[in-house]
Amino acid sequence: MSVFSQMSDLDHEQVVFCRNDDVGLRAIIAVHSTALGPSLGGVRLYSYASESDALRDVLRLSRGMTYKAALAGLDLGGGKAVIIGAPSIKSEALFRAFGRFVGSVGGRYITAEDMNTTVEDMNYIARETEFVCGSATYAGGAGDPSPVTAWGVYNGIRACLEIVYGSSNVKGRTVAIQGVGAVGYHLAKHLHEGGAKLLYSDISERKLGVVLEEFGGAVLEDEEFYAAECDVLAPCAIGGTFSERTIPLVRAPIIAGAANNQLDDETRDGEAIEKAGIVYAPDYVINAGGLIHVYCELKGLPPEKAMADAANIFTTVKQVINKARSLKLTTTSASNQVAEERIKAVSRLRNLYLR
Ligand code: NAD
Repeated sequence: MSVFSQMSDLDHEQVVFCRNDDVGLRAIIAVHSTALGPSLGGVRLYSYASESDALRDVLRLSRGMTYKAALAGLDLGGGKAVIIGAPSIKSEALFRAFGRFVGSVGGRYITAEDMNTTVEDMNYIARETEFVCGSATYAGGAGDPSPVTAWGVYNGIRACLEIVYGSSNVKGRTVAIQGVGAVGYHLAKHLHEGGAKLLYSDISERKLGVVLEEFGGAVLEDEEFYAAECDVLAPCAIGGTFSERTIPLVRAPIIAGAANNQLDDETRDGEAIEKAGIVYAPDYVINAGGLIHVYCELKGLPPEKAMADAANIFTTVKQVINKARSLKLTTTSASNQVAEERIKAVSRLRNLYLR
């Protein structure tokens, strides 16, 4: 399929191909939508099997950012960038060259960290363009977004509990967390402070040791996570974990966690979860705290504002689940609709909606 056909398929505004042989840079910047504001999304460094795989990924990811920002109530559009290559190609010159390309898009795209890119890489980019966030606190950035993400997930879990049990109180509830890394650790802390009982699954013995010592609870071995006797499964590790194989194992009434792309197949697995009567908080709704954090950095807003906005994920998750129930949709379809409604309404008043 031609590049333009792929762009119109997912409704993209702009795609920029970037090359600098001196530093080994081959990158693609995709601006999906600027209807609500400048497009924002991280830059991913990955050894794609082919250039068309890289293009497909950046188009899909940038569109996802449009929906995420819209639902989080931010004045941001969706964009993303990919750099083709292994982490070994990283250098100051590579990221500065990439930064110059980001600058050339003139503020229609703002970059940040993503898979295989770090705060240090953002610092290099920041030396060439102002259109970057997620740099280290010592370089004027707001630093690690994980605590804000975890606060949003905690509040999303409370919303699901209210829908299922009529009370958002986590006290006495049991939550199983898959992945006690940056987000999972902070989530465990909030849940522990709220009086919840905790179960953990992680491939790192060291990280399991830390949460067990600080918050108590018990460890689940690998697959035990899916069938855990608990109120909430909180996937906070990797994507694609809920599938035809794992969904039938689930006994918990709620799935609500931070991991990106939790469903192996959004439509098939979303419907299977719905059919099983499980309440699912769509990943891109409940994990928007990281994006909110970056947005506040961009606007020069204080960390307290980011935490307050992340707490609002409580209301958004409830809105999406209630809409799904009243329209008999999966929660992901319902959240897509809420996002599209906001994009249309706001961009119409800004005279930007072009279709
Ligand atoms: P992290 O790398 O700090 O933590 C992930 C944890 O998962 C690690 O402890 C790792 O050992 C564990 N893990 C990996 N594979 C596992 C498996 N098969 N079973 C159990 N545990 C496994 O990452 P993070 O920043 O905490 O992010 C967690 C998830 O949330 C990711 O999917 C990420 O994309 C998503 N997310 C993170 C943020 C953020 O602000 N950090 C924002 C939005 C979404």
